[in-house]
Amino acid sequence: MKNIYSQTFNDLEQYFLNIGEKKFKATQLFEWLYQKKVSSFAECSNLKKELREQLKKDFTFEQIILKKEEKDNLTTKYLFELSDKEHIEAVLMRHDYGLSVCVSSQVGCNMGCAFCESGRLKKIRNLKTEEMVLQILKIESLIKERISSVVVMGIGEPLDNYENVMSFVQIINHPKGLAIGARHITISTCGLLPKIRELSHFPLQINLAISLHAPNDELRNRLMPVNKMYNISELIRTLQEYIKVTNRRVTIEYVMLNKENDTQECARELANLLRGLKVYVNLIPYNETNHLEFKKSSQKRIMNFYDTLKKEHLNVTIRKEFGQNISAACGQLRSKEV
Ligand code: SAH
Repeated sequence: MKNIYSQTFNDLEQYFLNIGEKKFKATQLFEWLYQKKVSSFAECSNLKKELREQLKKDFTFEQIILKKEEKDNLTTKYLFELSDKEHIEAVLMRHDYGLSVCVSSQVGCNMGCAFCESGRLKKIRNLKTEEMVLQILKIESLIKERISSVVVMGIGEPLDNYENVMSFVQIINHPKGLAIGARHITISTCGLLPKIRELSHFPLQINLAISLHAPNDELRNRLMPVNKMYNISELIRTLQEYIKVTNRRVTIEYVMLNKENDTQECARELANLLRGLKVYVNLIPYNETNHLEFKKSSQKRIMNFYDTLKKEHLNVTIRKEFGQNISAACGQLRSKEV
């Protein structure tokens, strides 16, 4: 049986037509699910009894379960248990401009980035669409506030779970769903190029962020094994195409690893690599973890790197640090549990 939160608006319209109902029932049901946030069909009082019975036969309302919550003033980290007892995390962040949630897309990850906690524990499976939708819905219900932006930057590689992630995006974006604007949804990838090409034709104007983290193949091969499959020049070529098709600015993520990729030489190489490309660079202070050797760059090294990129006329920002005190680096909370 399908989970009701796996259904896009179009899926539900099709469903209602198939059972001989009017398709506007999809609007009514979406409002119950995502605006009134009911947890059973019995509560959908403007749907007639027979229809509620039918829905109950065709769909489950299965939830994800909150297992643990860690909080500091701007960040809350949630550990959720799935129906097969696997665990995933989501992080809520309070910005000046609103609330954002970082969602997971897989249980574990196979990309094997050397500095990343999620990759230490291999991928067990993809998340289902509903398991991503429910991360947002659960958090909204818990805090009784509206989430205004979503980043798919938690555990997993979203483009390695393309279909489900895209259904998830459609559901949370739909005006009768959670109505999170496409421009407020960001997908972060280590660079699965065929899927980036596919994404360039996706109808919604969502943001793309690329985890680059190194300006040359020698270093990137060491930090991110995916680079052995798709190297930097192929990645840059794919981004040029993506930008041409979508006319959207792409975010380049660059995690600052002490004395690994934060030298002045790296900064100059990065500037040369990105010159002329419609991107902006987000420097990410590394979140240290107990299991891995990498250290965060000092504030001074980050500032020097930033200054060099600025002098080279790149658009660059330094990511505000969230949740250092609450194991908020990708995969840290889960890896305490397993
Ligand atoms: N697989 C996707 C999305 C998940 S990781 C991707 O690679 O983009 C989200 C971002 O966090 C990536 O840029 C990743 O490289 C970075 N990251 C991983 N571990 C980190 C850590 N300990 N501190 C800071 N950033 C980290």
